[in-house]
Amino acid sequence: MNDFLPAALLEKVSPSHSQAIPYYREVGQECQLFEFAFQRGLPLLIKGPTGCGKTRFVAHMAARLERPLITVACHDDLSAADLVGRHLIGDGETIWSDGPLTRSVREGGICYLDEIVEARKDTTVVLHPLTDDRRVLPIERTGELLQAPSEFMLVASYNPGYQNLLKNLKPSTRQRFVAIEFSYPQAEIETDIIVQESGIDRACAQTLVAIAQAFRRLQHYHLEESASTRLLIYAAKLMLAGLTPRAACHFALAQPLSDEASTIAALLEVIHLHF
Ligand code: ADP
Repeated sequence: MNDFLPAALLEKVSPSHSQAIPYYREVGQECQLFEFAFQRGLPLLIKGPTGCGKTRFVAHMAARLERPLITVACHDDLSAADLVGRHLIGDGETIWSDGPLTRSVREGGICYLDEIVEARKDTTVVLHPLTDDRRVLPIERTGELLQAPSEFMLVASYNPGYQNLLKNLKPSTRQRFVAIEFSYPQAEIETDIIVQESGIDRACAQTLVAIAQAFRRLQHYHLEESASTRLLIYAAKLMLAGLTPRAACHFALAQPLSDEASTIAALLEVIHLHF
């Protein structure tokens, strides 16, 4: 993500609520893009590998914009009713219960659909009237037509690495979003993040990033997914807990990435070149 937006419009975070804002180290100008999309009522799609900061970014922006955040982890059983709501039976009466999407629309919050490609295509269709200029949510079962307030924003993420022919976003769904691609940050920024998130010293953080970069170069040959920023933070935390650097990297960087003995051995060799 290089410079792609005009001069910063984002308001500075006021000290009064900065305490509650989750730490997020900006990599490009993604905070501005989010702010523009929020101001203009545009839904945002964030693409990127696992553990690269998508969820943290959304949490950071929701806090910064002072909007409540509702996160839905999408899965292949997720139905439209899980998002919109359903009638529940209790004490002999039927009560309507809003789903997370409906609650978020009513509250004027940010609804974050994590791994949206996991959801069935007939489920994501429910998003269509909300993600074009109508910005409405029809609730068939109650006959309600909710108009989304200007503060409501829909954000979705997915990992293109998991994509296959079966799990692909319908073009009619994806073309309703402004989209941004995330990748693992450059070495200096990733080092800052590891230091900040784990408390480890900078030299160790730099070595962890060097290992991750070596793994990432191997990715296409041996690994489905490479070492994420999240795993590097885990390795740093294990080191701070008292594990040797080699052991920490074994459990946080090598084992989570593969089940193949030969691949794990190759990853350990890389680790041993650094620690
Ligand atoms: P994703 O949603 O992409 O799978 P997360 O947002 O959960 O990944 O990121 C994993 C962890 O990595 C976070 O909990 C946070 O500690 C750290 N992280 C990654 N990128 C950043 C960043 N740019 N700023 C701050 N923390 C980050």
